[in-house]
Amino acid sequence: MWDVVVVTPDRVAQLAKLLAEKWPDAHVELDHRNAYELLVATILSAQSTDKMINTVTPALFAKYPDAMALAKADPAALEPMIYKTGFFRMKAKNLIGMARAVVDRHGGSIPETMDELVELPGVARKTANVVLGSALGKPAGVVVDTHVSRLAQRLGLTEQTDPVKIEQDLMRILPRDQWTPFAHRLIWHGRRVCHAKKPDCENCLLAPLCPSAFLVTIDTKRQREANAKPKAARKPGARAGAKSPPPPAARTGAKPTAKPARTAKPVAKPKRSAKPASRRA
Ligand code: SF4
Repeated sequence: MWDVVVVTPDRVAQLAKLLAEKWPDAHVELDHRNAYELLVATILSAQSTDKMINTVTPALFAKYPDAMALAKADPAALEPMIYKTGFFRMKAKNLIGMARAVVDRHGGSIPETMDELVELPGVARKTANVVLGSALGKPAGVVVDTHVSRLAQRLGLTEQTDPVKIEQDLMRILPRDQWTPFAHRLIWHGRRVCHAKKPDCENCLLAPLCPSAFLVTIDTKRQREANAKPKAARKPGARAGAKSPPPPAARTGAKPTAKPARTAKPVAKPKRSAKPASRRA
């Protein structure tokens, strides 16, 4: 997928320097005033965007200003407030569970170690790293989200795909004081330049150091073509010419009478073959 590139301290330092020049003020984009708010916002941000979360949290923090208040929340009152963020039932359960654990185990204060944070409901290593690095100033690792994963791979900083292993690679090659700012800068670069599908390599200052420069779009196109071939092979006969598969009967409410429509498709073939004949004439 990506070429193997030798990760030298010099090369990592150059990348860090360029990213610092490009994004000197990169920071977590979830609005917050303290560790409690950042923890809540980060739990909510799963499968959502920071922009969306920032529309929800002002009212949430006004109603539940601390872990004590959130621990007493009624899910029926909390769920509508976070509905827009997706997976609202699970998130409400995790938020209340997290707040109760913070109250019961830590007297209402957000714990300040990785081991204690990851014991809270809804808190995995990434969330803990966000809180430790950006709200508490006590980085214990590197935040590895979808952007950091993608860019670390594209830049040849890791060959891993598992976030925990990617984090280990980044912790090994970066000085500790770079763990938090480097991750923020990768996230900003991923959101604004090195997009997943169409990285803007032409305008990327990392291109001279990037083994993936100008290759990703081509790879994406090739991957799409490669993915399309097996699918076509799996759908022989009448369905091969279909522009798009019919919706599942369960979704449309259609009864099994939909089947004759599929068997009717081969009949259309003679009509198609007739067209070229008329053109030739
Ligand atoms: S050169 Fe292209 S692939 Fe490499 S980091 Fe920049 S935008 Fe991403």
